[in-house]
Amino acid sequence: MQKSIQLFERAQVHIPGGVNSPVRAFKAVGGTPLFIERADGPYIFDADGKRYIDYVQSWGPMVLGHNHPAIRSAVLKAVEKGLSFGAPTEAEVEMAELVSTLVPSMEMVRMVNSGTEATMSAIRLARGYTGRDKILKFEGCYHGHADALLVKAGSGALTFGVPSSPGIPADFAQHTLTVEYNNLDSVRQAFSEVGEQIACIIVEPVAGNMNCIPPVEGFLAGLRDICDQYGALLILDEVMTGFRVALGGAQAHYGIQPDLTCLGKVIGGGMPVGAFGGKADIMRHIAPTGPVYQAGTLSGNPVAMAAGLASLTAIQQPGLYEQLTQRTQTLAEGFKALADRHGVPMSINYAGSMFGLFFTDVERVTHYQQAINCNIQQFNRFYHAMLAEGVYLAPASYEAGFVSAAHDSAIVQQTLDAADRVLATL
Ligand code: PMP
Repeated sequence: MQKSIQLFERAQVHIPGGVNSPVRAFKAVGGTPLFIERADGPYIFDADGKRYIDYVQSWGPMVLGHNHPAIRSAVLKAVEKGLSFGAPTEAEVEMAELVSTLVPSMEMVRMVNSGTEATMSAIRLARGYTGRDKILKFEGCYHGHADALLVKAGSGALTFGVPSSPGIPADFAQHTLTVEYNNLDSVRQAFSEVGEQIACIIVEPVAGNMNCIPPVEGFLAGLRDICDQYGALLILDEVMTGFRVALGGAQAHYGIQPDLTCLGKVIGGGMPVGAFGGKADIMRHIAPTGPVYQAGTLSGNPVAMAAGLASLTAIQQPGLYEQLTQRTQTLAEGFKALADRHGVPMSINYAGSMFGLFFTDVERVTHYQQAINCNIQQFNRFYHAMLAEGVYLAPASYEAGFVSAAHDSAIVQQTLDAADRVLATL
């Protein structure tokens, strides 16, 4: 910890809060963030050389675990040919073809550099295509930090109690309607009032920024119906769930056909990448074929494409998702059984290889208010004790956890053994 403490002090001189993304600062759980030196498989190693089993996995991208050999070697090969051209490459064509194959609703795909860019661009396209200004999102869902979407957002925005940030003109935010996740009546109500003005619904098909809350039965299908009824587009923000909840994303897992999909994280294999795509007749409204402007100097970057292609190729190995789901289930159910044994009130959720632990009496957490009413002090004590045991969880109670293909049964068991010791002390 010594070196992390020194680095954190140094970092705070020239970096706001010492970090380049707020949740990393450990403000929610208190203490000093670990500064990471390297990562391999299920592990990360901090600046002092201590090893941790990592359930953050770079907040989701590393579905195969850290430093996967196929991705590493693809990147090294690409680097030898040059870092950026600002001109089309074959790798971008392969990427679009591969994404369309794996996620068939994405007939056309545009690459960008982050999840934020993907959702921001998809929203602009939905507005441009429908000629409507309003959008509808859900309280506690996070879709990146574009102005229109940083209204009642989740993740760091929840942790910091900044549901909507200063710097966003009220004139922008007024077009963003926010209703309750997993509550179709609240969506119907909004549409009955201003449905003809709503360009799109944007939703995390499994909410991963208010801990982990899967959709209740019929929720996503209900959103599809309401969009069809009012001529609005359905945007699935699969930045977190894409290639994670299932090979074809949450839309494959739950059988939902969106108009547009946003991707990030896994699609870059750890490089800064995002993408949005969907029905061809909608995507053709994007420049240069259409009038809705969207661009990026580094979009489709050759090194990022190499990492992404290697990642999307490797995740197609047979049985991978069954194994990920089964390990995640063992882990989450294991936490719950231990909590019960030690008399600690806990509820768990999981979907594919995403999971969430809630320190609460509520049997099944399905709504935002239940998620934010959990015992945060108890989570924070659990968090630091697990860290001392060598298990690195997301440093805030509003974040989902991620299991990778490198988390084998022995790693899962070691995690549960640590949790057994920790839960006994809570
Ligand atoms: N959408 C969702 C569902 C996310 O979880 C995130 C980031 N965690 C984003 C969008 C934004 O992605 P990025 O941080 O790459 O901009």
